[in-house]
Amino acid sequence: MKSRTACYNLDRREFLKMAMTGTAVTAGVLAGFTGIARGKARFELPPLPYPENALEPYISSRTVSFHYGKHHQGYVNNLNRLVKGTELDGLSLEEVIRETATNGNEAVFNNAAQVWNHSFYWSGMKPGGGGRPTGRVAEALASSFGSFEGFVERFREAAGGRFGSGYAWLVREGDSLSILDTPNAETPLTLGRKPVLTIDVWEHAYYLDYQNRRGDYVRAFLDHLVNWGFVAENLG
Ligand code: MN
Repeated sequence: MKSRTACYNLDRREFLKMAMTGTAVTAGVLAGFTGIARGKARFELPPLPYPENALEPYISSRTVSFHYGKHHQGYVNNLNRLVKGTELDGLSLEEVIRETATNGNEAVFNNAAQVWNHSFYWSGMKPGGGGRPTGRVAEALASSFGSFEGFVERFREAAGGRFGSGYAWLVREGDSLSILDTPNAETPLTLGRKPVLTIDVWEHAYYLDYQNRRGDYVRAFLDHLVNWGFVAENLG
């Protein structure tokens, strides 16, 4: 978990700047999460942005049903159970993530980050998506990766090369876009980067549809599912 140590070196001003950036990124995505009174389970599973079968044939209804209805819901349930009645109760989801990224409470961090990461993943897809973007997204990708093909190559490398469970991300730092991959529940939110797009490469995301062929899942994501409008919003 060495990546989290980056947060120890931030001064308060930088931390607040990071926190505010993160809040702007996710204002729409996480609208389903509302703080209520201390001592009550508050985090809710946000609605899926499309029907469970909308991503077929690239991601099956069965996969979405388990991934969203069981895994994502499970992280929400665990988080509420773990946070209830503790000093973290009453904080926003992002505050819980940032707090537990550095205080050693791995169980809470893992569940909170997984709630956030999954909401972001679902929003990054849409039926009839993928393919070559246009306009400022195309310009931004060409500027940072040389070409759209350059972006695709780096994204596929990161998604395919991530050993075991985790995510590949397109992130923004200043005016520059880059690709990174993170293990397990880790999230760029705690690394001072603004998430722009992610693909979940945990086996539960693709195994029912693609078995061991992660590369085919990543290709289908890029060719048919990416919500470039969501990417454009996150370019800010
Ligand atoms: Mn997942």
